[in-house]
Amino acid sequence: MNRFDYIRPTTLAEAVAAAAVPGSAFLAAGTNLLDLMKGGVVRLERLVDVGRLPGLDRVEALPDGGLRIGARVRNADLAHDPDFARRFPAVAEALLSGASAQLRNAATAGGNLLQRTRCAYFYDAASACNKREPGAGCDALGGENRLHAVLGWSERCIATHPSDFCVPLAALDAVVEIEGAAGRREVPLETFHLLPGETPERESVLAPGELVVALRLPAGAEAFAAHARYVKLRERTSYAFAVVSAAAMLRMEGDTIAEARLALGGVALKPWRAREAEAVLAGARPDAAAFRRAAEVALEGARPSGENRFKIELARRIAARALALAAAGTPERIPALPASPLAASPLAASPMAPVAGASLHG
Ligand SMILES: Cc1cc2nc3c(=O)[nH]c(=O)nc-3n(C[C@H](O)[C@H](O)[C@H](O)COP(=O)(O)OP(=O)(O)OC[C@H]3O[C@@H](n4cnc5c(N)ncnc54)[C@H](O)[C@@H]3O)c2cc1C
Ligand code: SF4
Repeated sequence: MNRFDYIRPTTLAEAVAAAAVPGSAFLAAGTNLLDLMKGGVVRLERLVDVGRLPGLDRVEALPDGGLRIGARVRNADLAHDPDFARRFPAVAEALLSGASAQLRNAATAGGNLLQRTRCAYFYDAASACNKREPGAGCDALGGENRLHAVLGWSERCIATHPSDFCVPLAALDAVVEIEGAAGRREVPLETFHLLPGETPERESVLAPGELVVALRLPAGAEAFAAHARYVKLRERTSYAFAVVSAAAMLRMEGDTIAEARLALGGVALKPWRAREAEAVLAGARPDAAAFRRAAEVALEGARPSGENRFKIELARRIAARALALAAAGTPERIPALPASPLAASPLAASPMAPVAGASLHG
C-alpha cells in the first residue's frame, strides 16, 4: 500500500473541501476501500474519514411520513431496527442477505451504495480493465464472465453492481442526499449509478469531493409493506454476492394488483428498475401467468455478454419467483436464510421458516 494522508474532519464543509483534492476518497468502514488499497487496485493520496461527521449516524422519521437513513448508519443496525423492518421488509431482507454478520456490523449505508464492482479482472492489477485504467481494454469481455452483466452493458465494461441493499431501495424510489461545495442536492437512486457507456470509470453522478449524507425513503414506500420480498440467488448459501436477485413489491386492492414494484440485482452496473414490467402488473390478478409475463418484459432488453446467457432465464425465474412470494405476503419474520429462493416456497408461505439467530447467518 502506498503512503497517504488520513484526515478526520468534524464538519461537512471541512470534509467536502478535504475530499475535493485529487487523489482523495471518503473512508467509511473501509470494508471495500481498504481491500482495494491493500491490493494496489486503488492508489490514493488522502483518506477523509466520515466517522466524526455530525448527524450521519441517525435514522430519522420525517414529518411527511418518509424516512431518512444517515450515510454512516450500519447495515446491521438498520436491518435489525424492528420499526424499519416492519415498514420496509424487503430492504431489511436484502441487508441481511449481504456479506457476513461481521461485515454487516461494520459496513455503512453510504459505503454499500458506493462499493465497487466485484469483477475479478478489476481486482487483478495485472489484467486490462477500462474501469481501473481508461482505454486499457477489458479482459472480462473475452474472459471468465459468467457472472457479468446482461443489461445496460457496453463494449467498454460488462461488470455488475454488487449491492443487495440498493435493489429494493431502487424499487422504492429512494433518493440520495448529496453534500458538495455548492451545497446540498438530491438525486433519485435509480439515476445515481451510471451505466458504463464509453466511460466505465465514472460510476455515479458524484462530482469530486461530493459526500453522500443520507438516503431517503418517500412516505409512499410503506404502502408495499404487506407484500414485499427480496430474493437472491448465490453460488453458496452464505457469504456470497448475488448471481441474480430481485426485489418485488405489490400494493393490493382486494384480489387485484393496484401497483407493483420490481428491481433486479446482479444483472447490470446499477440496480435495475423494471418499470415496463411494473406497468404490465398494474390492474392484473396476482397469478403465475402475470408474473411470468412481467418477468419476460423485465428481461426483454437483455443480451448475454459472454458465458452468461443462463443469467437471462435465471433472472426471469427469480423475478417471477419474487413476485409470487410477495403476492403470498410478507412473512412476519425474516426467514432463517434471508433472501434465498430455497428458504420459502410461494405455495407454503405461512408459516415461514423459524428465524432464531437469522441475522447470524452470513
Ligand atoms: C467478503 C465480502 C462479502 C460481501 N458480500 C456482500 C453481499 O453479498 N452483498 C452486498 O451488498 N455487499 C457485500 N459486500 C460488500 C460490503 O457490503 C461493502 O464492502 C460495504 O457495504 C462497504 O461499506 P463501507 O462502509 O465499509 O464502505 P468503504 O469501504 O469505507 O467505502 C466504499 C466506497 O464508498 C465510498 N464512500 C463511503 N461512504 C461514502 C459517503 N458517505 N459519501 C461518498 N462516498 C462514500 C468510499 O470512498 C469507497 O469508494 C461484501 C464485502 C466483503 C468484503
Ligand atoms: S468488466 Fe469492467 S470492471 Fe471488469 S475488466 Fe472489464 S472494464 Fe474492468
